[in-house]
Amino acid sequence: MERGAGPHRDEVADVLRLIGEEAERYLAALDDVAVRGPDTDPAAETFDGELPEVGIGAAKALDELLQRQAGLIASSGPRFFGWVTGGVTPAALGGDWLATLVDQNNADWAGAPLTSQLEALSIRWLLDLFGLPKGWDGVLTTGATMANYVGLAAARRWWGLRHGVDVEEDGLAGLPSMPVFASGYVHPSDVKVLAMLGVGRANVRRLARDAAGRFDLDALRRELRALDGAPAVVIASAGEVNAGDFDPIDAVADLTQEHGAWLHVDGAFGLFAAASPRTRHLVDGVARADSVIADGHKWLNVPYDCGFAFVRDHELLTPAFGIAAAYLPPPGGPRPGFAFKGPEGSRRARSLSVWTTLRAYGRAGYREIVERHLDLAQRLARRVDQAPDLERLADVPLNIVCFRYRPPGVTEDRLDDLNRRVGELVKEDGRVYFGTTVYQGRVAFRPALVNWRTRREDVDLISDVVRELGARLTQEDGANA
Ligand SMILES: *Cc1c(COP(=O)(O)O)cnc(C)c1O
Repeated sequence: MERGAGPHRDEVADVLRLIGEEAERYLAALDDVAVRGPDTDPAAETFDGELPEVGIGAAKALDELLQRQAGLIASSGPRFFGWVTGGVTPAALGGDWLATLVDQNNADWAGAPLTSQLEALSIRWLLDLFGLPKGWDGVLTTGATMANYVGLAAARRWWGLRHGVDVEEDGLAGLPSMPVFASGYVHPSDVKVLAMLGVGRANVRRLARDAAGRFDLDALRRELRALDGAPAVVIASAGEVNAGDFDPIDAVADLTQEHGAWLHVDGAFGLFAAASPRTRHLVDGVARADSVIADGHKWLNVPYDCGFAFVRDHELLTPAFGIAAAYLPPPGGPRPGFAFKGPEGSRRARSLSVWTTLRAYGRAGYREIVERHLDLAQRLARRVDQAPDLERLADVPLNIVCFRYRPPGVTEDRLDDLNRRVGELVKEDGRVYFGTTVYQGRVAFRPALVNWRTRREDVDLISDVVRELGARLTQEDGANA
């Protein structure tokens, strides 16, 4: 038979061999490679050109990719501390590869009974891990942004019904704008979600009592009182991204309960504080919320993309996200598929990586990961405090250390620029990776520890590299002055 231009069954063996060999090589090197090589950007840009008229086949295409992969960043390695970026546990890697292999469409039970069962079970296990009530509804999403979307869509439906309107059926026309309150810690993804939901970015009122952004509870009490029983939505942050601080969820829950408001908790990474008795108090009150979310691809260390949304009331998600079609089971049925509980239709079986990693390591394994990061963050904080040329800018309640380079003799007005330049050098250097932020008006570093691979020596490099590169810069500045 003539061989066409398209895929062939006999390519599979080569693909599996190539990927298997590459996986062994990549993972063996991951702990020690530079996070970012000097030729990363140029290497990425070498991929260009027109759509090939005739392709080169699977093995050659993969081989080309493997030969030219200098454009990658070792973001799943132990020295990537930018944003809040988890790694991939061995169990999660296996589960995720299986998801590609078996390619289930985890939209409904009829088409994917095993992975739907594993999604339902994973949600129960996660509720347990996070200290949330057993019976809550939930769904796996592509990440915390879409989990926030699910939680706040449930809130919007509840709010519409309180006004006698089925928002999903009839839209928002004729309704007042939905009152939304948050602290200064509110994550930009929550704000984006309010845009996506037709509530509007400008409709979130930030009630902060200080420059860090801490919740002004007196202002929240006043605002909720002024609504005089009209429904409102309050967003609390469990783990803010600059310093890992928490809104006082229990105190916020007192107010939302007293005034009948909806409480949504964004715990993209901070919800994992519940996995250790040392930090569980930080999420006190979370079980009193109406919707709670977390990310999977951060501290659970499953691959992209994965998040979780949990909602107390079972009557909200399916009316919000169900679809009706003659070839689908009715959305109101006893066991709605997961496509009826979230924004996606056809969906990847993320439950395979989530279930596998939870089965592999259990409660104790995740407690161990979280506590190792807590210890390492405290160690970094001590090293910052002991260094005469570093300044810590915030307490370290969890896994983020916010600090800046501050050599003696450099005046405050020059520090922002100096720290920005040190930040650029850190990235070019490639031994560790993290960016700068602005914390209380000052340019700062905020490395976040969430990768299970991260060791003590990796974390020690953070302050060592900043001091070394900072000293080099200030010396050059002195020589040029
Ligand atoms: C990372 C993060 C998000 C957004 O998560 P994605 O997975 O990138 O969509 C939302 N909230 C908080 C607090 C986060 O840290």
